Amino acid sequence: MAKVCIGIDFGGTFIKYTALDENYQPLGKTHQVPTPLAEGRDAILQQIIAGAKQLIESLGLAREDIVGVGIGSPGPLSVSRGILLALPNIPGMENVPIRDIVGKALGLPATLENDANAAAYAEFLCGAGKGTDDMVMLTLGTGVGSGIIHKGEIIHGVHEMGAELGHVIVQPGGRACSCGQHGCLEEYCSATSLARNTTEILQETDRQSSLREVLAEKDQIDARDINEARRAGDELAAEMWEQCAYYLALGCVNIYRFLDPDRIVLAGGLSNAGDDLTEPIMRHWKELDWTLLQTQKSLAIATMGADAGAIGAAGVAWQTHRPA
Ligand SMILES: [Zn+2]
Repeated sequence: MAKVCIGIDFGGTFIKYTALDENYQPLGKTHQVPTPLAEGRDAILQQIIAGAKQLIESLGLAREDIVGVGIGSPGPLSVSRGILLALPNIPGMENVPIRDIVGKALGLPATLENDANAAAYAEFLCGAGKGTDDMVMLTLGTGVGSGIIHKGEIIHGVHEMGAELGHVIVQPGGRACSCGQHGCLEEYCSATSLARNTTEILQETDRQSSLREVLAEKDQIDARDINEARRAGDELAAEMWEQCAYYLALGCVNIYRFLDPDRIVLAGGLSNAGDDLTEPIMRHWKELDWTLLQTQKSLAIATMGADAGAIGAAGVAWQTHRPA
């Protein structure tokens, strides 16, 4: 039997599971179970463990077939200590030594990783970053998550507070961010903030826009509505889309000045726009970039989809526990 690592992607809605062989090929489909959010800490931990046992059983794996287990979770967390520090959307999960609890229950060496880093690692191993040594991923969803892979290693920083590119400041004195800073990238470039910033203009001004009808009909608008309106010629939608692309381009320039990676990969809901997103980013990026020298600019859309977290968690387990 081929050796495998188990990956667990623990989220606020679902817990997902996968098993990867040593070449990072998944054995079968990703499994998922709902997160029993309302039932509290012990029930959540029991569910995480039970789902992993189910996966192991369904694949007919013996203990000696499994090299290790990787757990991806929202942060803040400590990778080195294997502890969840606090989960803003999941009450009761403060200071939980999840790595050791899950590892002990499964009888396996375990590793904990931030979910955005795990997803970036999946793209690095098998997706849009495959073949690179240095890759940065921005996940444009509810917030802006990020992962930095440098020479094949996930960057955490000395205090495990690094690689938080959603909170680089792109607008001094700009919009207040939930982190306490002002003008964070996340406040302009997440799918949620694009929709929110556009909604605010609709509600606070009398600007003409076809989005008013969408807002009246659905009571909310999302990034896809804004892109559709833009494509149909709506001026406000175009302006907001451009603003989002501009700030992302600022982020890209800064990432290249800082790290000069092989590639930046975009993931998350907003990245579903594909070329509609990368084209204006590249345009602004060229305007903002060095004129002193020709520089490489590589931008790609993620390809691993919703299973990236579980696959990346298993990949991290391989990186940590692979026998010498
Ligand atoms: Zn912030």
